[in-house]
Amino acid sequence: MKMIDFRSDTVTLPTPAMREAMANAVVGDDVYGEDPTINELEAEAAALFGKEAGLFVVSGTMGNLVSTLAHCERGDEMIVGRQSHIVIYELGSHAAYGGIHPFMLDVQPDGTFDLDDVRAAIRGQGSLWPVTRLICLENTHGGAQGAPITAEYTAQVAEIARQHNIRLHIDGARIFNAAAALNVPVRELAADADSITFCLSKGLCAPVGSVIVGSRDFINKARRVRKSLGGGMRQAGILAAAGLVALREMTGRLVEDHANARRLAQGLATIPHVRVDLDRVRTNMVYFELTEDAPLNPEQLAERLKTEYNMLMRPYDPRRRNFRVVTHYYITREHVDLAVEAIRALLSEPVAAN
Ligand SMILES: *Cc1c(COP(=O)(O)O)cnc(C)c1O
Repeated sequence: MKMIDFRSDTVTLPTPAMREAMANAVVGDDVYGEDPTINELEAEAAALFGKEAGLFVVSGTMGNLVSTLAHCERGDEMIVGRQSHIVIYELGSHAAYGGIHPFMLDVQPDGTFDLDDVRAAIRGQGSLWPVTRLICLENTHGGAQGAPITAEYTAQVAEIARQHNIRLHIDGARIFNAAAALNVPVRELAADADSITFCLSKGLCAPVGSVIVGSRDFINKARRVRKSLGGGMRQAGILAAAGLVALREMTGRLVEDHANARRLAQGLATIPHVRVDLDRVRTNMVYFELTEDAPLNPEQLAERLKTEYNMLMRPYDPRRRNFRVVTHYYITREHVDLAVEAIRALLSEPVAAN
C-alpha cells in the first residue's frame, strides 16, 4: 500500500501534466543558450518576480551557492541566520568554495532578524574588519516553522543594506508558500532583493530544479559561476518543462496545503499528550510535541504510524520530543483526518506495565 508521507514536501512526485510536458519538451544545448524550454522558464520566472533575468540551476543549494559566489569576494562577510538553510544544511559550501565568512544572527520565531542586530552586525570601514557584502533572508523560513516574511520587513532590511552598499539575497526556496500565505504576488516579496532563488520542486512538485532571478548583470555573472561549479547543463529543457508546469499550475493551489496544515494542527491540538502552537502554523508545516507522560515516545509513535497506518512522520528534535510534519500536493484533507485519528488512537492506549 502507498505510504501517506508527511515527512516533507520534498517527497512530491512530478504530476502527469509534468511528465507529458517533459516527454514533449523542445530542447537544445543550454551551454550555448540554445535550449528554448530553459530560456522560456528563465524568462517567465524573471517576469513573475519583476527581475531582468533568470538562471535555471540544479537545486536550491546550488542556487544559494551560485548567488553568494556571484555577490561576494573571498574574505567577504555575509549576514545570515543561525537557523537558516544556508548555515545548517549546505555543508559549509559558501565558506568552502567562496571563502565567504558567515556572520550569524539569531532568527526570531517569526523568521525575521531583529533590525538592531542587523545594524550592529555591519562592519565598519577600515583595515580591521572583513567587508560586509551580503545579507541573506529566508522566505518562508524553515528554521522558524515555515514563517512567511512580509514585503514590508524585507524593505526595511533592504533599506539598511542600501545605506551600507550591501547586497540582499533571499533564499526563497518556498517563497510561493509565503506569497500564498500573505496573499501577495511573489514580485512584491522580491521587490527589494538583488537576488532570489526559489525551488520548482518541493510544494510545486517538479522533479528537479531551482531558478535564480536578478538583474541582467548579476545573472550573467551567476551563469559563469554555475558553469565553474559544473552546473552547465545541456538538453535540460526536459527538466525545465516540468518547471514551467510547476510555475503555471502549481503555485495557485498552495493555499490548500496551508488549509490542510491548519486542519491537522487544530486536530492535533485536541489530542491529550500533544502540544501544538497554532499561532505558529502559517504555511505548510506543523510542529507538535509529545508530553513527557505520553504513552509513546516520538520514535515509537513514528514506528506504529508506519506499520499500522502506512503513515510516515519523522521525529524532529529529540530534546523536544517533537515532530515536523509537512503538507503537500499528495496529502489530502482525508489523509489529515486519518492522521489525527491515528495519533489520537495510539496516544490513548494505556501505558504497558513493565
Ligand atoms: C530546500 C531548501 C533549500 C535547498 O534545496 P535543495 O533543492 O534541496 O538543494 C534551500 N533553502 C531552503 C530554505 C530550503 O527549504
